[in-house]
Amino acid sequence: MSLNHSWMQRDLAVLWHPCTQMKDHEQLPLIPIRRGEGVWLEDFDGKRYLDAVSSWWVNVFGHANPRINQRVKDQLDQLEHVMLAGFSHQPVVELSERLVALTPPGLERVFYTDNGSTGIEVALKMSFHYWRNSGRPEKQRFVTLTNSYHGETVAAMSVGDVALFTDTYKPLLLDTLKVPSPDCYLRPEGMGWEEHSRNMFAHMERTLAEHHREIAAVIVEPLIQGAGGMRMYHPVYLELLREACDRYDVHLIHDEIAVGFGRTGTMFACEQAGITPDFLCLSKALTGGYLPMAAVLTTDRLYQAFYDDYSTLRAFLHSHTYTGNPLACAAALATLDIFAEDNVIEANRALAARMASATAHLAEHPQVAEVRQTGMALAIEMVQDKASRTPYPWQERRGLKVYQHALERGALLRPLGSVVYFLPPYCITEEQIDFLAEVASEGIDIATREAVSVAVPAGRYPGFRDPG
Ligand SMILES: *Cc1c(COP(=O)(O)O)cnc(C)c1O
Repeated sequence: MSLNHSWMQRDLAVLWHPCTQMKDHEQLPLIPIRRGEGVWLEDFDGKRYLDAVSSWWVNVFGHANPRINQRVKDQLDQLEHVMLAGFSHQPVVELSERLVALTPPGLERVFYTDNGSTGIEVALKMSFHYWRNSGRPEKQRFVTLTNSYHGETVAAMSVGDVALFTDTYKPLLLDTLKVPSPDCYLRPEGMGWEEHSRNMFAHMERTLAEHHREIAAVIVEPLIQGAGGMRMYHPVYLELLREACDRYDVHLIHDEIAVGFGRTGTMFACEQAGITPDFLCLSKALTGGYLPMAAVLTTDRLYQAFYDDYSTLRAFLHSHTYTGNPLACAAALATLDIFAEDNVIEANRALAARMASATAHLAEHPQVAEVRQTGMALAIEMVQDKASRTPYPWQERRGLKVYQHALERGALLRPLGSVVYFLPPYCITEEQIDFLAEVASEGIDIATREAVSVAVPAGRYPGFRDPG
């Protein structure tokens, strides 16, 4: 029996995997990974896979990066953890200073949590609480875009709109206001991204005009709606949104958990709109993909509304046990050093151009509706009918075939429903990008070649995280 197989059996006897119908593993092999190096993951039988999705969008400088490893090892010998209430430590102070300096002007305070979803919870709670502390307790509602994703905890799900993850839990969710997304895949034929995004803002304007007295904040994924299928829009929407949030006295929350740290071509997506949100949520690539941590940055104005004598009960009494973990801070500091020392944002331009040229031919594929790109994220949308952009029924799981083909060829491509995408670590080479494009092309040919017969009950679900 192969080592892979034996680890798989031991795993399946005791684990329950995230975002997985475990029964799938009766057919679909689970891949136990023994080691990682750079863009490569290696299984227990010695087979290597190019990590084209940065291990769920977190890894920016490769697996087992020597510079990040060294920093974490040094920190480990110094201090592994201390509680952050009443105590502090060097890496958390340095990281906070660096984040304040790096993010747009006006973001001056950093609050830490353990993962993206809880970072979103903090931004929502702080916004709600700010309005209470400011004598406007009626401002309690949140505005969100259709097809958004902000995480898996209950409030984060409430401001999300990917039916596959939220429908089941509807009775538990907060009552939010949903505004149609500026998603440019849905633009009328012949219209540019900017014009479409600008036009779609009318919906947001109307919602704010009508409900601003009861709205605490608007939350968006800037430029790329990741889990909703890597749908993209123009920065003009963020500019208009900032102006309207100011005019209506509503907070703007930027969820840059997926897009922060260079993914869109700038360090942070909000830079492309030239704006400062009231809350900037960061996670995923923050630690280079090493350790779970999120940072919520906010303004001095927000902070001051909580700053008072204890007995006024204005404090933000929220904590997570591992807040500001020193090892995670050390990994984040090493990651920021690499961004600075290697001029990464600049170097990524050539890689992004190569991603575009290597996949350009796919736009002509009879079963591809669109190849779209923002910086270091590129997505290929497979459809049943190109002219009408009719999607494949989700039950056909076309993306799963691309996933399986890629694994055979030594690449980890994990489509979102019928959307095949590249979100690679920035240490990928141009030759490796060409290899991924070749594997994706073959996979798309295989996945779209023949009719699939499955029972298709009613319902529309894209396949987030599920390689369906
Ligand atoms: C991944 C993600 C989250 C949730 O982060 P977790 O660490 O998985 O809880 C929230 N928002 C966006 C945009 C994400 O991509």
